[in-house]
Amino acid sequence: MKRLQLISIGELDGIVLEGLAVELANHFAIPCEVLPHTIDPSFAFHGERRQYHSSKILAELGQFVRPHTWRILGVTGTDLYIPILTFVFGEAQMGGPGSVVSYYRLRQEFYGLPGDGDLLRERLLKEAVHELGHTLDLTHCDDYRCAMSASHSVELIDLKENAFCSNCAERVLSMTQME
Ligand SMILES: [Zn+2]
Ligand SMILES: [Zn+2]
Repeated sequence: MKRLQLISIGELDGIVLEGLAVELANHFAIPCEVLPHTIDPSFAFHGERRQYHSSKILAELGQFVRPHTWRILGVTGTDLYIPILTFVFGEAQMGGPGSVVSYYRLRQEFYGLPGDGDLLRERLLKEAVHELGHTLDLTHCDDYRCAMSASHSVELIDLKENAFCSNCAERVLSMTQME
């Protein structure tokens, strides 16, 4: 059976991939494994922006794709960007297989607030589900509660749920049945 693979991009600080793997396995009803590798993201670093180019990291994930890979999700604590945007919470290949998500701006500390581990894990799960939704060909959803709504701030992430609305869930189901 195909598996969802999680891989760390750089050292993770206070994030346990095994915990995320359990939640994502339940969410997508597919086995999930944490790869025993860490990708050093320094090749994607932009010296002036002091950020990491997420598209380059996505391309790098390709070398870990195996026949049993359903999707691969990179998790990083570095600040990600694509050239046209100030930052991104994550990026994914539409239709799969690669996706990456950053918790850099999901931490309360980033906004000068006291840390909140539960809130951080919940935000990370929502963004992971969101990026994996893109790998399942989902585009952004107008329902602000849906995991596929386009959230450009943590306030909007907090408003949405870690689940797909019924429309998006239906599309995921038809996509996974085709595979
Ligand atoms: Zn998106
Ligand atoms: Zn939706």
